[in-house]
Amino acid sequence: MTKVPYKIYLSENEVPKYWYNIKAVMKKKPEPMLDPGTLKPIEKDALKQILCSELVEQEFNTTDKYIEIPEGIREFYRMIRPSPLIRAYCLEKHLNTPAEIYYKFEGTNTSGSHKLNSAAAQVYYAKEQGLTSLTTETGAGQWGTALAMACAFYGIDLTVYMVKVSAQQKPYRKAVIETYGGKVYPSPSDTTEAGRKILKENPNTTGSLGCAISEAIEVALKKENCRYVLGSVMDHVILHQTIIGQETKAACEKYGIQPDIIIGCCGGGSNFGGLIAPFMGEKIEGKNNIQFIGVEPASCPSFTRGKFAYDFGDTGKTTPLIKMYTLGSGYIPSPNHAGGLRYHGISPILSQLYHDGYFEVRTAEQTKVFEAATTFARCEGILPAPESSHAIKVAMDEAVKCRETGEKKTIIFGLSGTGYFDLSAYMSYNDGTMTDYIPTDEDLEKGFSSIPSLNLT
Ligand SMILES: *Cc1c(COP(=O)(O)O)cnc(C)c1O
Repeated sequence: MTKVPYKIYLSENEVPKYWYNIKAVMKKKPEPMLDPGTLKPIEKDALKQILCSELVEQEFNTTDKYIEIPEGIREFYRMIRPSPLIRAYCLEKHLNTPAEIYYKFEGTNTSGSHKLNSAAAQVYYAKEQGLTSLTTETGAGQWGTALAMACAFYGIDLTVYMVKVSAQQKPYRKAVIETYGGKVYPSPSDTTEAGRKILKENPNTTGSLGCAISEAIEVALKKENCRYVLGSVMDHVILHQTIIGQETKAACEKYGIQPDIIIGCCGGGSNFGGLIAPFMGEKIEGKNNIQFIGVEPASCPSFTRGKFAYDFGDTGKTTPLIKMYTLGSGYIPSPNHAGGLRYHGISPILSQLYHDGYFEVRTAEQTKVFEAATTFARCEGILPAPESSHAIKVAMDEAVKCRETGEKKTIIFGLSGTGYFDLSAYMSYNDGTMTDYIPTDEDLEKGFSSIPSLNLT
């Protein structure tokens, strides 16, 4: 076996050419999406009015374990991938742990996160279909940025509905999106019926992801040759993100690394799902016994305190019904600094796996997360995104446990992105004004009351 280098970069011909479709190996598949009108499983054709056709095909694919990445997407991936798998020697030393810690770093591209992996794929398929424009929503701005980069590359127009509070807090994100040619509207806006309705009811609202989704879908339905794309939650997004897990697995096999624990942060579930998928597939097949740990913010605990139920993906209740762990589409999380983790629901694939006991989820409080982020930055040199730092926090906890028990575990975590656009969050941590917010049961009840009660036969 070759000696493990500090940073593992696969060579071009070692980079996997296939995504991994975990649904093909899941014993219990996720429940189908339902049409909210009829409560029957939604038809592909209905979904193709909103989403790109090939992405709908992928969404429904439960049989092909490997799906080839088209050459037109691999061309883009060659610019931004492979991402490195890095051995956290300095952090290990700092923690004085016998554990080996590795992290898969997705923040090396300009958009600064893993989201570009799916953005590139989605825009490629839109172009192949002959579409001319796309709409989307963005919360913290990472998805909008990634999509703008992909749209510039493939030559597609882009309109982004950006949650108003984020557009105000992160003017630089907006500037990057505009530099790549995207048009940004703070949401709610007066450009859609959904936006006007929300503004009328609540003129001072700072917006929410759910509301921005409603606006973006409305435009996609009304405009010719336009579709709506989204950056997490959906099965096809998880599929594209499995390039992270595929590369990680190839690197592990090349150097004989056998992970005991794999950790990732969970917003809608795409980076965690993508990282663990090929390893989880083998766990389902009885070939490994890896412990998988998802981490979510204590302020938006979709898995650990949510309900496994059919719910809408957006506040405006325009999406199909999705069976997932949810806090209710009406749940408005407190303004936590990990913007990318503020979604009421979570991937149906991960929801089903979690429900069936294949992995555990922990919550982390914001100040503890920034404490871990700061330690990590000082040891490893990388300024991590607040979202990713949830995974760092739990990886450090596990490494400290190893110090106490003397176990030499191998821990891998997903470092989903960089924190250069999150400096106001770091400022509030540094000057001591950052607070922790944990919703009460009463707060959660309000969200739960927005989950539709269905009479499913
Ligand atoms: C968007 C985002 C997340 C959360 O989204 P997932 O779909 O759960 O991966 C996590 N980290 C970063 C850096 C993000 O931009």
